[in-house]
Amino acid sequence: MENVQLSVVIPVYNEEAGLPALCARLYPALDALATPYEVIFVNDGSRDRSAALLREQWELRPDVTRVVLFNANYGQHTAIIAGFERCRGGRVVTLDADLQNPPEEIGKLLERMDQGHDYVGGVRQARQDPWLRRVLSRAMNAVRERITRIRMTDQGCMLRAYSREIVQTINECREVSTFIPALAYSFARNPAEVEVAHEERAAGTSKYSYYGLVRLNFDLVTGFSLVPLQLFSLFGIVVAVLSVLTYLVVMAKRIVADAPAYTLATFWDRDILQFFLIGLMLFGVGLVGEYVGRIYQQVRHRPRYLVAAVLERKD
Ligand code: UDP
Ligand code: MG
Repeated sequence: MENVQLSVVIPVYNEEAGLPALCARLYPALDALATPYEVIFVNDGSRDRSAALLREQWELRPDVTRVVLFNANYGQHTAIIAGFERCRGGRVVTLDADLQNPPEEIGKLLERMDQGHDYVGGVRQARQDPWLRRVLSRAMNAVRERITRIRMTDQGCMLRAYSREIVQTINECREVSTFIPALAYSFARNPAEVEVAHEERAAGTSKYSYYGLVRLNFDLVTGFSLVPLQLFSLFGIVVAVLSVLTYLVVMAKRIVADAPAYTLATFWDRDILQFFLIGLMLFGVGLVGEYVGRIYQQVRHRPRYLVAAVLERKD
């Protein structure tokens, strides 16, 4: 496997029903590209026969196949990282093991890269998923578009091509839970998108429960935005300010009504005071969150910036 040009990274979790069909289509599609390639399967702690099937496939095509076996289930994105850390190609393509991303579309991504793009994301045409997932995923795309700097049409599409530089940079990051397409976007110099076909799952069922999808989206939001924290602080400030205004209005009214015999009860209003304190507390929670957010950014060890070029005289 010297001189590998293209690495294909595939996370596999309980896909025994679909793996034979995947291999039957994947290898001919890659052979047709006539470029030296390798396929890296990462078995994400499957509890079915996936690992055994991958071993068989490795024995069939050891020249172009590598298999990484996890001891337990760490999640799709961690599995992809394991592939990234071991792949050798100048270009790296990720795809799902369930044939929802047709391997025949890989050529399209590479063509787009030939035009000078270092990151090409797929956009699923006619997505073949349950309607509720399509609706929720469109909503999350919209939220992400607003609260992060990441601009992608279809964040959920895992059929994507990355340059070696981007994969290298991702490998340098020391974060535990992440969202690869977004991370890659933040390192891309010249990202592009292409429309790719999408098929129904060839076999088996989705490995993501709705709860799993919520967690995945939390990885995305907390990994790439501090806006949720800032919203908290902002809300706290608004509550505190409104309660002060309310207090002033209520006091003015009482001063007129109770005059001239003022008592403590004239100036004391527990309800308003409570709102004021809740506002302060929310602000404080957000403030603590800001510090936690900064610690989180620090421990991730993402590069602070990437230089595209430096213009300077060498002498
Ligand atoms: N996957 C994984 N680990 C997990 C969940 C999923 O490696 O914990 C793999 C799975 O085998 C498949 C890909 O990630 O290759 C996408 O999963 P799936 O097709 O179930 O997700 P969906 O298409 O429903 O979003
Ligand atoms: Mg799928």
